[in-house]
Amino acid sequence: MDETKVQLSEREMPREWYNIAADMPEPPAPVLHPGTGRPIGPADLAPLFPMELIGQEVSQERHIPIPEEVQAVYRLWRPTPLYRARRLEAALDTPARIFYKYEGTSPAGSHKPNTAVAQAYYNKKEGVKRLTTETGAGQWGSALAMACNFFGLECKVYMVKVSYHQKPYRRVLMETWGAQVVPSPSQDTNAGRGILAQAPGSPGSLGIAISEAVEDAASREDTKYSLGSVLNHVLLHQTIIGREARAQMEKADAYPDVVIGCAGGGSNFAGIAFPFLRDRFAGRAIRFIAVEPEACPSLTRGVYAYDFGDTAMMTPLVKMYTLGHTFVPAGIHAGGLRYHGMAPLVSALYQQGAIEAVACGQRAVFEASVLFTRTEGIVPAPESAHAIRVVVDEALKSKAEGRSKTILFNLSGHGHFDLAAYEQYLAGELEDYSYPVEKVREALATLPKVS
Ligand SMILES: *Cc1c(COP(=O)(O)O)cnc(C)c1O
Repeated sequence: MDETKVQLSEREMPREWYNIAADMPEPPAPVLHPGTGRPIGPADLAPLFPMELIGQEVSQERHIPIPEEVQAVYRLWRPTPLYRARRLEAALDTPARIFYKYEGTSPAGSHKPNTAVAQAYYNKKEGVKRLTTETGAGQWGSALAMACNFFGLECKVYMVKVSYHQKPYRRVLMETWGAQVVPSPSQDTNAGRGILAQAPGSPGSLGIAISEAVEDAASREDTKYSLGSVLNHVLLHQTIIGREARAQMEKADAYPDVVIGCAGGGSNFAGIAFPFLRDRFAGRAIRFIAVEPEACPSLTRGVYAYDFGDTAMMTPLVKMYTLGHTFVPAGIHAGGLRYHGMAPLVSALYQQGAIEAVACGQRAVFEASVLFTRTEGIVPAPESAHAIRVVVDEALKSKAEGRSKTILFNLSGHGHFDLAAYEQYLAGELEDYSYPVEKVREALATLPKVS
C-alpha cells in the first residue's frame, strides 16, 4: 500500500534535542552587551531567563535530553504526522516526491508549543512565578499561554496592537488558557508610554512589544521573559521536528534532496533543517531553503551585522541578517514573518553558504497555498504558505528537468485564526508589497556601531 501518513508511536518520540552548535564548521559571532560592546555572560541574561536556558544558549553538547515532564506534555500531540502529498504531486504532474511534516496538530495550531512547553518547564523548575512575552499574530502568545497553564505560571502577553484588533479570537484563545493580554504599545511600561506619546496611533510592532515584555520582566523579581523564536535555545527545542522527520523519512524509505521551511525568526525552519544539516556538514548533497516574504526580506535583502533585537534598544546585540531594529513592517498577513532580524544561527549558516533563502510575493504565496488546500485539504497558516510556494516551484522545476527529487517541508501550522488573507486572495484583492531598497539603506544608518 502507498502510505499517505507516516506515524511514529509515542515510544519512538525522540528523547533529545539536537544542538547544531556542536557541528557547525564556524561558530556564530558572540552576543554583545549593548553598553560595553563586550561579549555577554550568564549574569547579564539572568534577569530575563532561567539558568538552564542560558546554559542551552551557549551549550556545545550535541544532544540535550528532553526532560520527562516536557515529554509528557509533548505526548498530548507528538509525534506529529509526516505526510506524503500525493494529491498535490498529482495536481502538479511532477515526478518529485513531496513530504511534509505537519505541526498544526498541536493544540495551539503551530510548532511554537515545542519551545513554549520547554521554557515554561525550566522557569517553573527555577521558582519563577510569571512569564511575559510579546506576540504578533497571536500564535506565540497562544503557545506560551497554554504552556504556562500546564506548569502553573502566570502569563502576560503584549500583543501587537494591529493584530489585537484584527484577530480578537486569538486573544480569547490566550485568555481561555488563562493568560492576560494587552495591546502593545501599552500604558503598562515606559517603552509603551514613550511610543504612545510620540505616536498615539502606532499600530505596534514585534520590536515594540518585545521592549515592553523585556522591561516588565526585568523590573520584577518573580517574572522572567520568554521569546518564541530567534534565540539558540528556541531553535534547539524545535529540532524535535526534524528528528522525528528523519525517523519518519527512514520509515518511508526516503531521504530529502531539499528541505524547505518558512522563516520569520527562523525557528521552525531550524527545527526541520538542523537535524538534516548535520548530514550536509558530513558531505551529503542536500539543499536547504528558508522562505521569507518580499515585504520582510531579512535574509535576502538585509545586512549581516550586529543589531538590537528590539526597537527600544534594550536587548543585547546579536549578529544577524537584519532590516534594522527601526523596521516597521507593512501590514501583510503573514504576521509571524514580520520580524526585522533572523536567528543568529540561521544567519550564520546562510552567510557560510550552508543554506539558501528565497523571498516570495503574497499573491504567488496564496496561489500555491490555495492549490495545497484544494488538494491536501489542510488550510496552511499564511506563514507556512510561503514554504509551499517554493515547494511548488521546486516540484515544477523537477518536472521541467524530467528528474525526480524528494522534497521535504515543514507545514508549521494551520490558518484557522488567519483567514483574512485567503478572503482577500479569493476576492482578487490581495496585493504584493516589496520592501523598498531605500528603506534598507535607511535602516543601515541606524545599526549600532561595534568594532
Ligand atoms: C510564528 C510562526 C512562524 C514563524 O516563526 P519562525 O520562528 O520563523 O518559525 C511560522 N509559521 C507559523 C505557523 C508560526 O506560527
